[in-house]
Amino acid sequence: MKDRISELVKTLNRYAEAYYTADAPLVSDSEYDRLYHELVSLEEQYPTLVMPNSPTHRVGGKILEGFEKYQHQYPLYSLQDAFSREDLEQFDQRIRKEFPKVSYLCELKIDGLSISLMYEEGILVAGATRGDGSIGENITENLKRVKDIPLVLEQPLTLTVRGECYMPRASFEAVNQLRQENGEPEFANPRNAAAGTLRQLDTSVVAQRNLATFLYQEVESTGATTQEGILQTLVEHGFSVNSQYALAQSVEEMWSFIERIQEERDQLPYDIDGIVIKVNDLAMQEELGYTIKAPKWAIAYKFPAEEKEAQLLSVDWTVGRTGVVTPTANLTPVQLAGTTVSRATLHNVDYIAEKDIRKDDTLIVYKSGDIIPKVLRVVESKRVSEEKLEVPSHCPSCEGDLLHFEDEVALRCINPLCPAQMKEKLIHFTTRDAMNIVGLGPNVIEKLFAKDLIRDVADIYRLTMEDFLTLDKVKEKSADKLYTAIQASKSNSAERLLFGLGIRHVGAKASQILLEHFRNLDSLMLAEKEEIAALDNLGMVIAESLTTYFAQGGTKTLLAELKETGVNLDYLGETVADNAALSGMTIVLTGKLERLTRSEAKKKLESLGAKVTGSVSKKTSLVVAGLEAGSKLTKANELGIEVRDEAWLESL
Ligand code: NAD
Repeated sequence: MKDRISELVKTLNRYAEAYYTADAPLVSDSEYDRLYHELVSLEEQYPTLVMPNSPTHRVGGKILEGFEKYQHQYPLYSLQDAFSREDLEQFDQRIRKEFPKVSYLCELKIDGLSISLMYEEGILVAGATRGDGSIGENITENLKRVKDIPLVLEQPLTLTVRGECYMPRASFEAVNQLRQENGEPEFANPRNAAAGTLRQLDTSVVAQRNLATFLYQEVESTGATTQEGILQTLVEHGFSVNSQYALAQSVEEMWSFIERIQEERDQLPYDIDGIVIKVNDLAMQEELGYTIKAPKWAIAYKFPAEEKEAQLLSVDWTVGRTGVVTPTANLTPVQLAGTTVSRATLHNVDYIAEKDIRKDDTLIVYKSGDIIPKVLRVVESKRVSEEKLEVPSHCPSCEGDLLHFEDEVALRCINPLCPAQMKEKLIHFTTRDAMNIVGLGPNVIEKLFAKDLIRDVADIYRLTMEDFLTLDKVKEKSADKLYTAIQASKSNSAERLLFGLGIRHVGAKASQILLEHFRNLDSLMLAEKEEIAALDNLGMVIAESLTTYFAQGGTKTLLAELKETGVNLDYLGETVADNAALSGMTIVLTGKLERLTRSEAKKKLESLGAKVTGSVSKKTSLVVAGLEAGSKLTKANELGIEVRDEAWLESL
């Protein structure tokens, strides 16, 4: 049992770190909740085995580096959760034992992230995330860019208010569309998009992303005696408050509110993941108090993961960059967790066989933590045809033979000149962890490919400004940006190039390890299989894949062409840091930069050996101040720290 508890703690902590700190969940919320509740019940049965780092005893996640810490004067809590009517009945009975006449306020559980706003004499002085409940991240500057947060209240009040900051569905779709076009990874859902936006260093991005808020708590009420009164007071103070709330005198009434909202959920312009039920009377709340993690006077009913029926219309088979052919189902459109779903991944031929999916079947689809919805099962009672799905024997792009290797489930096209594979390889080459050529996303690559301007990655470096100008909708300014981004990528350290080449099994991490050791691609190319396999964390599979790749005639030519166009084949990682201009310096960026984004500026400084931190202290070597720089600049001046501007940064 000890082993299971320890495994659950480890797994849940890993999931929570990805969710709270990286804003990129590894599993769906329902999967997380399932494991969490297994842990809760084991801990109840075996209290002596409770581990000190158990997630059941902590709120939220770690603090991100780069932000100042904010010590909350009053802690922020999580909520105990309910998954059934019975859970709500037990909650009600517990409360009613002490307060037989209790009434509840039911509110929407907005799927965003908690924020705390501090006003002094009517002026917004600080804003922070929940963090671990007692210490959050100071994100004041970012929150000032959220349009519905008042910077100044009508009355000169000193108060702390709390609520949820979220990204409306329309903004979420627009942000992801843009990220897709730029070849950046898409956000999994609006919650992660909101959290990722608020916890990043470039305030101008926050302003563009149209975040919004719903406030629901006033710490130490300024006059209200009920939760409903607090909501009304918050409206009077000028805050955004969700108007969909209702009083309930019984579980019956809570349940009818829950059912109504569940039906209307798809039509809301923002995501919700449940209903929060709170004891309405503040004096009762105070008497009920808190557990280590959550108030005893509230509970969150979590909606079950949404599942819908959709009919299979057809299957698309698409070729990836390694030649793997993947089936995707085209479905009758259904609304799932706020978005219209008309496609679901079918993974591979084995998956189709395992689920026994046939032509025109009715499928139950759901959304996991991912963006692409999945098929749960077939509704056999609605089967209209026994006909099996046709599995292609030829590549849908080049019509070459498709092979099903014994050791893998995938179908593969092995034609190296297959156009679909070539395009996917080009797309991969430009992505963030590879050569990071901003702007050269799938759309532009598609157009260049269609015009026969690029076939392999070396062609990218032969493109001219004129080539871009022949493309539809590309004007002088964006042609210039694309051209400049391509030229800049030539001086990337070579592990990016290696990863960008898309060699089977050679990921970003392996590329880094390989180049740290071999220092340049020429030496790597000559390396023995055994020497590669012996490196930390690598092994024979990677070694064989690499040596096979380098043994191909075309590889040498490709690398020679890349070199000829000026692409760097050397590892620059440590060399830059060791003797770089800013080596050993700790630099703080503040204010608004006009030409560089925050992350570009940070990257540039880091590439020159500097460490970039979020707060000014005696250890800071230099501050780069942009427009409207505030408290950090003042502090730098107080401490006599050297201050430079954006022009200096550019001149480096
Ligand atoms: P929670 O999200 O279940 O509930 C607490 C939060 O609800 C509050 O902090 C507040 O931000 C929010 N909230 C929204 N509307 C509210 C309202 N009207 N009144 C009060 N609060 C409101 O709890 P949590 O501790 O923030 O997170 C735990 C949950 O996060 C898990 O149950 C799981 O669903 C999810 N999670 C998922 C993963 C994953 O890997 N997918 C990992 C960790 C956590």
